[in-house]
Amino acid sequence: MKFGGTSVADIDRLNRVAARLIERAKSGDDVVAVVSAMGKVTDDLIEQAQQISPSPSKRELDMLLSTGEQVTIALLAMAIQAQGYDAISFTGSQVGIVTDAVYSKAKIVRIDAACVLAALTQKKIVVVAGFQGRTVDGQITTLGRGGSDTTAVALAAGIKADSCEIYSDVTGVFSADPRIAPKAHKIDYISYEEMLEMAASGAGVLSMRSVEFARNYDVVIHCRSSFAPPDQMGTIVKGEDPSMEDAVVSAVTHDTGEAKITIRGVPDRPGIAATVFDTLGQNNVNVDMIIQNVSDAGLTDISFTAPEADISAVSSALEVCLKDIGARTWNIDKDIAKVSIVGAGMKTHPGITARMFKTLADEGINIDLISTSPIRVSCIIAADQAEGAVRALHTAFDLDFEE
Ligand code: ADP
Ligand code: ASP
Ligand code: MG
Repeated sequence: MKFGGTSVADIDRLNRVAARLIERAKSGDDVVAVVSAMGKVTDDLIEQAQQISPSPSKRELDMLLSTGEQVTIALLAMAIQAQGYDAISFTGSQVGIVTDAVYSKAKIVRIDAACVLAALTQKKIVVVAGFQGRTVDGQITTLGRGGSDTTAVALAAGIKADSCEIYSDVTGVFSADPRIAPKAHKIDYISYEEMLEMAASGAGVLSMRSVEFARNYDVVIHCRSSFAPPDQMGTIVKGEDPSMEDAVVSAVTHDTGEAKITIRGVPDRPGIAATVFDTLGQNNVNVDMIIQNVSDAGLTDISFTAPEADISAVSSALEVCLKDIGARTWNIDKDIAKVSIVGAGMKTHPGITARMFKTLADEGINIDLISTSPIRVSCIIAADQAEGAVRALHTAFDLDFEE
């Protein structure tokens, strides 16, 4: 059972989470809780670090951010004990969550979890810090924003749990972010493939890495609300089965956390794109969309998008390689948003892309970049038009909730 930041935002909520865990343990289940930092603690810690330096050491940043979750596990274990049940807390390092050494977005390579299993046999509720692990050398790492979801799924796989429940402040996965699309409806079942595309295109309700893990290890995720009654079903994320209806479009997502980088005057010859994107890759920049314009007099422009959080890594990478390749200039545009439609049925239905473009055109929205996968179409538009675009697409693809 994983509880995110809003579910453990204060002592009162921690006590309620404790009661919920105890109720489940009393029903006969072995219970492991994975928790996030309380409320906005992670954001506050990042803010403090940035007051000291705009680009603090990544090792020290991970050292700092991992403290957020460590506070929650200790308090939650105390809350469970205060309500009369036995509990023990562990950091990611203590439960043997071993990661690679890429600070701030480390990948889990192995989970030992022997201490979790041992504590469960002693009938304790085990409380584990999400979002963190350690390298083989014992350095503390974090798994990237939203990483507690990944801890929960990875741990569920590691201990072969019967179920993996992810609790947040929404009752499940919706056809669009309910905060901006009031007519969004809850989805009962969704396949890993669709959920992966949704998470990758901005549906923050589950982190992308967690869905990838779930798919690779066949962990069924039950995404539900910590504020709803325990018998209320949320959304089940699982492998596709023939009874699942392939909706043409299941969801509309948006992401305002990316930036567009344009490199101008790039010599148009073999190997240039390889050099640029190889350098970006070595700097651990997650490049998303890429577009290269038709060349004019042997020079071309290359645009790509990357998370805003990776901007300083983009800058260092480009400073190095642009001189080598002889490009003229580059610039960053942060005022962009990506809106996407996702649906497994898209594979077999022509005309979906055209309907998306027409809907955006009718709203007076200009499309800057486009990318597609077999079950997703994404457009880069101006950031201030994102919410209107989501609502218009939600209506155009018949997703609006009917009372
Ligand atoms: P937690 O802090 O518990 O991990 P998050 O804030 O990460 O929770 O995720 C829940 C939030 O995800 C919701 O409040 C909602 O605004 C947002 N969200 C974005 N897209 C969707 C979607 N398609 N369905 C449900 N929630 C979504
Ligand atoms: N506390 C971390 C974050 O805010 C991890 C998580 O909540 O999943 O990103
Ligand atoms: Mg989250």
